[in-house]
Amino acid sequence: MDTSTLTFLHKIFQEVQQKQDWKTALDTLFVSLRGSFIFDNVAIYLAESKTKTSEVVYARAVGRGKTAEADAVWGEALSHEVLEKGEMVLMESKVDLRQMGRMTSANLVGFPLFIGSKLSGALVFVRFGGPTYSELHIQIAALQAFWAAALIERRDLQEARVELDSVQRQMRLQDDFVSTISHELRTPLGFIKGYSTSLLRQDTVWDEATQREFLNIIDEEADRLARLIEDMLESARLQSNTLQFKFSAVRIDALLRDLTVRMNTLHPEINILLDIQPLPPVRGDAMRLSQVFDNLFTNAIKYAPGSDISINVRSIGDRIRIAITDKGEGIPEAYLPFIFERFYRVPGERTVPGTGLGLYICKQIIMAHHGNIWVESVMGTGTTFIIELSNSL
Ligand code: ADP
Repeated sequence: MDTSTLTFLHKIFQEVQQKQDWKTALDTLFVSLRGSFIFDNVAIYLAESKTKTSEVVYARAVGRGKTAEADAVWGEALSHEVLEKGEMVLMESKVDLRQMGRMTSANLVGFPLFIGSKLSGALVFVRFGGPTYSELHIQIAALQAFWAAALIERRDLQEARVELDSVQRQMRLQDDFVSTISHELRTPLGFIKGYSTSLLRQDTVWDEATQREFLNIIDEEADRLARLIEDMLESARLQSNTLQFKFSAVRIDALLRDLTVRMNTLHPEINILLDIQPLPPVRGDAMRLSQVFDNLFTNAIKYAPGSDISINVRSIGDRIRIAITDKGEGIPEAYLPFIFERFYRVPGERTVPGTGLGLYICKQIIMAHHGNIWVESVMGTGTTFIIELSNSL
């Protein structure tokens, strides 16, 4: 091998490695070596161990047979043979390509793809017409197949790393959750225990107003505890797919008006601005949908204290869009991708009570309605949670 060949290969190696996306890397690989090895189409078939079939994961047409790109059926039979034998297979065949404007032969060559040490797929080149493959061509093609296997392995590793990161984050969240939840459970329990012990003291007589005040605190804290336990159970049921939904025709506008009345009674100091278009009913679980709106509302009150809260509902094509907006501090952009995850709380939020379950529950409920929920937030301006539901019954 001479220096210029090595320099040439080194340059290609660098270019291919720099491409983050595996398909773009493969494109670069095939195009760069096309001057040395001419082919019309290339396809990669990966074996599905469960179904014992193979699936086309990559197909490119660079030459005359451009129409054959989409299905890559032309190489299927050969890919099966390669997968059976575990070695290179050459096939020269006379096929009728009249539909492509000429009658010619197709030369195919297929290589096994070993990922790790496992035979995982096949890479097949086809050349329509033209000369058969020379020894040099076959060696270049084999090099490309070897390289392609390495790129697929790199893709698999990248995917595994993303999954691992997510599992690790989930484990960290779960750890945080244990400390959050013990705090969240202890606080109301502490109040209940403290105030009931005070009321029971033999040596003190409380006047009626104080007694009522203490009982009110006990009552509120017991509610908080019940909500917390309900959230935990709910999130566990959603996680295990055992939460039952009862679907019927639901009037979203009525649900939101009810919620507003409830919130006005509980928090008379908060200004709620309603802007609701007349809407057709949707198919949904009224109780669960109320729970979602309740949650978003409670969050707005918790995280944007004192802010006006606007509810805007529009019918957009075959969907209904509900937006709940506050004018709070907002959520830093870096945290937005995670806030619907189970147990996730924005770091530094420790002074506000919460478990990180609320938005997870909301998302699962909306997904069970085949809807969509997302957040838009601008620091210093406010946060909007948007829900889209299909309006078909
Ligand atoms: P929790 O409120 O129990 O912490 P959620 O799942 O309801 O859990 O919310 C997750 C996180 O999203 C919260 O910890 C909070 O930081 C952030 N968040 C939710 N709603 C808002 C909002 N309206 N404004 C600012 N931050 C919010």
